[in-house]
Amino acid sequence: MRKLDTKTIVVASHNAGKIREIQDLIGPLGFTAKSAAELNFAEPDETGTTFEENARIKALASAEASGLPSLSDDSGLVIDALGGDPGVYTANWAETEDGTRDFAMAMQKVETALEKAGATKPEQRTARFVSVLCLAWPDGHTELFRGEVEGTVAWPPRGTAGFGYDPVFQPEGYDTTFGEMSAEEKHGWKPGDAQALSHRARAFKIFVETCLDA
Ligand code: IMP
Repeated sequence: MRKLDTKTIVVASHNAGKIREIQDLIGPLGFTAKSAAELNFAEPDETGTTFEENARIKALASAEASGLPSLSDDSGLVIDALGGDPGVYTANWAETEDGTRDFAMAMQKVETALEKAGATKPEQRTARFVSVLCLAWPDGHTELFRGEVEGTVAWPPRGTAGFGYDPVFQPEGYDTTFGEMSAEEKHGWKPGDAQALSHRARAFKIFVETCLDA
């Protein structure tokens, strides 16, 4: 396991919601980080079939373009009643004909698929959010960290916080969706905290505990 010995990195993402959450996590640890979006890096094609492959593609592209260690996130919603869909294609389900993303439409698509599958009761609507973070160095070395959080798909959507599918994901043990939670409640975590809630914060905890001497 290679340690990270610099506090200057790139957040290898073009997704504003993810960038904000990763900045919230790394900021208090003293990192200075620009995102691939701010640096105008091209978005690489996500040609992988696993979260790990796609996370690696994004982190390596950014490390190569910047000459700096780069931290990417590939994530998605894995729904049991849909055989794991949308999974690595979670962002694609939100794509519209004009190339923009519409998450109200994507959440409706999920709901329609669940109804078609006869999954109307909470116990039939189990799902998990998965996040794989990849740290890549300019010499091509990579380290991967996976975080998951179990929950159910709620309907109708509730809350306006967060991004993406947050209004329909209700983590196990909570009455609220991610869309109804504060940023601190959803993804707050700092070294020394025993647990984090979101998939991304859980992956981040592993990154810190393995690659940093925090
Ligand atoms: P990708 O990692 O760029 O392929 O995109 C993953 C997609 O999953 C995002 O565009 C979001 O729609 C969704 N997603 C991932 N993490 C979260 C989250 O924390 N909340 C809500 N949606 C998420």
